[in-house]
Amino acid sequence: MKYAVGIDLGGTFVKAALVSENGKLIFKSKSPIGFSAKKQTILNTIKEIIKEIIDKATAAQLSVEGIGIGTPGIIYEGIVLGGSENLDGWENLDLATYFSKAFNLRVKVDNDANLMGLGEFYYGAAKGCTDVVFLTIGTGIGGAVIINGALYGGYKNRGTELGHIVVEHSGPECNCGGKGCLELYSSTTALIKQYSEKSGINIDDLSGYYIVEKYHENEPNAVYCLQEHTKYLGHGIASFINTFAPQKVVIGGGISDAGQFYIDLISKTAFKYMMPDCGNHTKIVGATLGNDAGSLGAATLILKKSN
Ligand SMILES: [Zn+2]
Repeated sequence: MKYAVGIDLGGTFVKAALVSENGKLIFKSKSPIGFSAKKQTILNTIKEIIKEIIDKATAAQLSVEGIGIGTPGIIYEGIVLGGSENLDGWENLDLATYFSKAFNLRVKVDNDANLMGLGEFYYGAAKGCTDVVFLTIGTGIGGAVIINGALYGGYKNRGTELGHIVVEHSGPECNCGGKGCLELYSSTTALIKQYSEKSGINIDDLSGYYIVEKYHENEPNAVYCLQEHTKYLGHGIASFINTFAPQKVVIGGGISDAGQFYIDLISKTAFKYMMPDCGNHTKIVGATLGNDAGSLGAATLILKKSN
């Protein structure tokens, strides 16, 4: 059996796991990343957590084949090019060489959402499929596209920014430089913002979970906001279905735990507006790996040949 370390770096935590070839998490660990942590501190935190997992593997006499790392940003050949503004110094950063030298192991790096999608593809909701669109709904919207059994990143891995397709061409400005992007309407952040404006409740006192609860109580603002949120998401997904004709569209991120009603609302719009022949094999489903998707997917960069 082969084993690899899978690292999932987010804006607030770094998660690590020792993963076996068949997708079992042997050990897990998690460390906070300070809100204003500097680049070297972040690198040290990652280094420590990798060391912790490798030490445990060694003690259990399991040999580690390499390290897979998922990080926010646009990644090409192990280098973070940019696009991860929440992490200090996270541009033109050769993570693969840095950690490969530190541990004398093979290191591969890709975008965090790509790797969550890869995790669901190998071990989760899209197991057994060949063509998959994955979306993670959170602060923003991340995406991954799997075509014919392999992760598709566009030329030099610059693409599949699925949260930044335009759903309102004259909509508000987006951080990406565009206007009216999907994530401005359908991220959890957008849902909370809209509900806050409607209800007058301070944004800091709200969560996606709270709005879902109110939805189930038929509170009109919550019903309206969740319907808007899922409508935009459904229209976006109809476009992805028309483009990729996936077998599954997998919805991840905290709010996807809201329950089947959430998937049903999204599906209603997506299936109504897609081209029927493009989507007649498509199922829209919730992710099944939860918080482990990123670490599992990262490890597959080492454990699976096609990556
Ligand atoms: Zn955008």
